[in-house]
Amino acid sequence: MQTFTPTDSVEASDDTSFDDLDSLLTESVQIKADAKRLIDGRKRIKAGAYGLNAIERAQLEDDIARIELSREWLPKADVAMFSVQTCQCCSAVSAVFTGFFQRQSHRSLRHTDRWIAAPEHASDGLPKEIKNTDSTIVACPFCIGDFGYPVEQLGVDYSEEVME
Ligand SMILES: [Zn+2]
Repeated sequence: MQTFTPTDSVEASDDTSFDDLDSLLTESVQIKADAKRLIDGRKRIKAGAYGLNAIERAQLEDDIARIELSREWLPKADVAMFSVQTCQCCSAVSAVFTGFFQRQSHRSLRHTDRWIAAPEHASDGLPKEIKNTDSTIVACPFCIGDFGYPVEQLGVDYSEEVME
């Protein structure tokens, strides 16, 4: 029986290259610039009337909301996501790649992560991880023939001889 044993996760590397330092520095400068714009923007709105018309105020509020939102979640890792399926019928395990994602941690809520689709797979020097979503399935390509379905219509030869 052909099985695939998934790993839970891949440990992040401790290597710190100059590229990583550059990107950290760039991020740090960006965060400081955003923080200054945030503080300045709030001050301007608090000061109220002086110099701001309705459109400028709305733009400033949009800007503040955008910065606040971007500061809520911190990029933590580039993630390759897999769907790992275990067949209830024959116990075969198979893994299907479901895409590249970025894992982000919430700045203030501990142990709160989210995974955002990252089709560009553009790494910012983040550690790489593999994440599995596990599920069980009623039948798989190895045993669907036992259910009376025409395996040949899959277009892929899953016979034992080929797998060995
Ligand atoms: Zn099966």
